[in-house]
Amino acid sequence: MQNTIISVKDLRKTYGSFEAVKGISFDVYEGEIFGLLGPNGAGKSTTLEIIETLRSKTSGAVMVDGLNLDKNADGIKKIIGVQLQTSGYYPGLNLLELIQLFSGLYNRSTDPKALLQLVNLEEKAKNKYKELSGGQKQRFSIATTLINQPKIIFLDEPTTGLDPQARRNLWDLIRDIRSKGTTVIITTHYMDEAEQLCDRIAIMDEGKIIALASPDKMIDDLVATGFERPKQVKAANLEDVFIQLTGKEIREE
Ligand code: ADP
Ligand code: MG
Repeated sequence: MQNTIISVKDLRKTYGSFEAVKGISFDVYEGEIFGLLGPNGAGKSTTLEIIETLRSKTSGAVMVDGLNLDKNADGIKKIIGVQLQTSGYYPGLNLLELIQLFSGLYNRSTDPKALLQLVNLEEKAKNKYKELSGGQKQRFSIATTLINQPKIIFLDEPTTGLDPQARRNLWDLIRDIRSKGTTVIITTHYMDEAEQLCDRIAIMDEGKIIALASPDKMIDDLVATGFERPKQVKAANLEDVFIQLTGKEIREE
């Protein structure tokens, strides 16, 4: 039996007269990579930010690791990792100094070098954030979520805009973080990514969850309805060609 680490019950959020989240319920299990998918405007970020205590809810119940959002938002803040707004990355500081600064804000003693090593940025320790490539920026941002040694991290579209190698590199990093016992909640618009990375996914549309299962189960269920791909599937796709031609290793330097 899996332990539930996040439990959301009948969550609603209205902005004025517009209902962005329409009574959703779901559980996230400890140690899983849980994907929240859905078109732009579905309500994914709103849902995540409510659980992260960054946005108020209109109604419903949220429990995070046994803590009730209504009663113990501060307790929840302490055990979760959230990607900070890049505006918090003081331009004058290098990566090492930024991590030291954030550690101080969290009141945690961190080993900044070890953290940069974990996200494969030790060689950029003395660089400024603005000097990083897109993939490096995302890896640094993920490093900042880990400073308070959280039980759960939230990643909202961490791979949007990255090239295929950088995207795969980030998958490895996310798997690595999960293998150390951290629960990961991620949103993405890339279905191949969700299929590769997520143990279970919830698909949201117009404020509702319309499906929740493992990617495998969702695909099997679709096939069971008699669905067939309209075109003969080739043994490789264009992304395979790209990776084959340009190499698997990241090249961002
Ligand atoms: P997603 O992350 O799935 O793209 P969001 O949660 O960002 O969706 O937004 C869900 C809906 O709520 C969208 O229609 C969006 O325009 C609306 N919305 C989000 N934030 C606000 C806000 N602060 N004020 C008013 N409407 C908002
Ligand atoms: Mg969003």
